[in-house]
Parts: sequence; C-alpha cells; structure tokens
Amino acid sequence: MLSFEAARAKIVEIVGARPGARQTEIIDISENPARALGRVLAEDVAADRNYPPFDRSTRDGYTLRAADAAQAGARLRLIGESRAGVAFDGAVAAGECVHILTGAAVPQGADAVAMQEYARADGDFIVLERAAAPGQNVVPAGAESRSGDVMVASGARLGYAELALAAQAGRTKLRVHRRPTVAILSTGDEVVGVNDPPGPFQIRNSNSISLAAQVTLAGGEPVAQGNARDEIGELRARIEQGLASDMLVLSGGVSVGTYDLVEQVLRDLGAEFFFDSVAIRPGKPAVFGWCRGKPVFGLPGNPVSTMVTFELFVAPAIEMLSGAKARRPAFCKAKLAHAVSEKTPLAHFLPARVSWAGGDPVVETIAWQGSGDIGAVARGNCFLVVRGERQRLEAGEWVDVLPRREML
Ligand code: AMP
Ligand code: MG
Repeated sequence: MLSFEAARAKIVEIVGARPGARQTEIIDISENPARALGRVLAEDVAADRNYPPFDRSTRDGYTLRAADAAQAGARLRLIGESRAGVAFDGAVAAGECVHILTGAAVPQGADAVAMQEYARADGDFIVLERAAAPGQNVVPAGAESRSGDVMVASGARLGYAELALAAQAGRTKLRVHRRPTVAILSTGDEVVGVNDPPGPFQIRNSNSISLAAQVTLAGGEPVAQGNARDEIGELRARIEQGLASDMLVLSGGVSVGTYDLVEQVLRDLGAEFFFDSVAIRPGKPAVFGWCRGKPVFGLPGNPVSTMVTFELFVAPAIEMLSGAKARRPAFCKAKLAHAVSEKTPLAHFLPARVSWAGGDPVVETIAWQGSGDIGAVARGNCFLVVRGERQRLEAGEWVDVLPRREML
C-alpha cells in the first residue's frame, strides 16, 4: 500500500504530465481586487519605472551632504523644504540643508538625512548632534526594483502584497489562470440534501458543504452535483455529468462493501487507476484515477476521512490545475502535550489543537469518536500526524501537525 507521501507524489507526477486545458482570463483589480485574490498569475508584471522613483527619505529631518556632517556638531544653513508629493525645487550645496519629511525626495546635491530628533534650530541654521554617513536614511531610486524588472512573476499566487505591487506599477488588468471547475458528487442511499429532513437512519450531506469549502480554499470552483444513490445506473449518469468539469471528486462508495460501487462504475467508464488505497487513517480507501481526460478522486464518505484525504490528495491537484505549483502539505512542528499511541502501522491524522499560549507551539489531541466526528475537527485547528513507523509519541516531543488550511 502506498504511503501518503508516495500517493501525493503520484498525483503530482500524473497531473503534471497531463496538463489539460488551462485557460486564462483577465481580471481588473481596480474593479474587484477580491476576485483576483488567490489566483495564479499567467504573465509577468514588470516595473513601469524605478521603485522608489526618486531617492526617498525614510525619516523626518534634514537632508544634507554627508561630507558636511562627518563630525557631530555641524551647523548648516536651512534653505527650504521637501515634503511628500512636493519636492524641493533646487539643489543642496556645501554647508546647506533642506527640511525633509518621510517619503519625500532627497534633492540634488544631498546624499543623507539627519533625523529631526538629533537636530536643533539656531536662527537660519540647523545644528546636528550627530555625524551623518553617506546614504543614511535614504532609499536610492531603483533600490526596490528597476524599471522593466519583473516584480511579480508568472506562476505567483496573488496575495495582498502581490496585488499591491501590481497596483503600484499601474497594472490593474491582470492575466490570471481560471479557477478549475471541480464537480462534487456524494454517494450513498443514506444521504439526504442539507435542506431535507433526514429519516431516522439518514444523514445530511455535510460532505457537499465541506468539499465545496475545501475546493474553494484550494483555488478551485466547486460545482455541486448532489448525491447519487448506491445504484449503478444513477451513479454512472451522475459521474458522466461530473466529468464535464475539470475534475471530479466523489465522496463515499469506495470501501469494500456490497454497495461501494464507485470504482466499478468508473472502471466501466474506462477509468485508469493509479491507486485505490493509501496507508493512512482515516482515509485508507482513497482512490485516484483518470477518466475521459479528467482527474477523478474517490474519497471515503466518513466526513473526517473526506476532509483529510482532500487536504492530502485533492488540494495539490487543484493547485496544479490552477496554474500553480503544488504546495507540500504545510506540516509544522509542535510540542506534544501528552503521549499518544496508535495500534495500526498506518499514518494517523488525529484532530488536534495547536496553541502558542506559552511561546512554543503545543499540540494536544481532541477526544473523538472516529472518522464520523466532525465536531472534533471543528474543535481543533490541525491534525496531529502519527506516522506508521512510530506508533507511540511521548509527551514533550516535537511532532508534525498539519494545520487546517483555513487556520494557517
Ligand atoms: P462510505 O464511504 O460510503 O462507506 O460512507 C461511510 C459513512 O460516511 C456513511 O455511513 C455515512 O455515515 C458517512 N457519509 C457518507 N457520505 C456522506 C456525506 N455526503 N455527508 C456526510 N456523511 C457521509
Ligand atoms: Mg456509502
């Protein structure tokens, strides 16, 4: 059986080798920055001019020739002011200085800024308490980027800083990758819509909601396909509908029970399978295949299994279809609050909560009733990873945790 790392590597390899149709579109960030947030840039954004565009003061104070203030106590004639947006109209000669404000341009001739706090006025003169060094408190023109430099490279994910850089350069219309459409199809005779009253032995389709949220967080566009009963004809029809999207994610019906028909139906539709079980708990029966040109994931139906397998396997595939590189799972280290032991040699993902109250991150597991217990995940913010090779972890050990993506 594949380890989760090997399963993930397989997904990255297969999706990477079969690029499919990756479309792009243009988003105007001046109209709707939120729409571009999280998208992957499909072109380079270059600097339209130098940044900063002029030698920029980082302090309020006096701008001068450093050579005039090589020693403390220099006395310089004050000849004018340079403030943000309105530069001093002239040059600074030997023995002179100009009052300057943060963000303003350093005038011709000057090469340093002495801080206001270490200067005092004496008639038309300013006396400096400290020596000045060339370049002090000045960011030279072009130091952040030079005209024509790539500021945000194609393939970058657009967060608030990347969007601000593009806006700074006046690039409001950005070519970005389209979000891949991801069909979400749950299966099971016991599943009813979230607005429908469940019978005594029925459950609401919570997976349709968690999966839509997880698809969105991973950069995809969820397409709800509802629920298919455990019946070959209906399953087949709904899977065929789902294959109209860029990717299909199924929940339920992938175990070995009599009514677990997903693999059989996919096979009838000509699917190729790369794995149909992974050495993890929860989530062991996870399936990854390719059907009619589209990646297909069959995730086990128990809600926590669905969540964990999505994060490990589906998220990287969505990232790649979004034009980005697949990110490694964001494992972090935390100190274990109490010993944990698991009996089976699988990689366990246990609902857990990491907190930083005392400085170091400390993780404790959440009491739970197994993979149907959504509340345990909701009470936590991460999963503690107990690897198959070492089934017992001691209190105080540094261990791996996988934060819930939205909780990072
Ligand atoms: P399965 O993987 O089909 O054997 O499903 C395992 C269990 O997961 C079922 O018995 C349900 O309790 C639960 N389950 C399956 N599908 C869903 C769903 N769409 N939403 C919430 N829970 C589900
Ligand atoms: Mg089922």
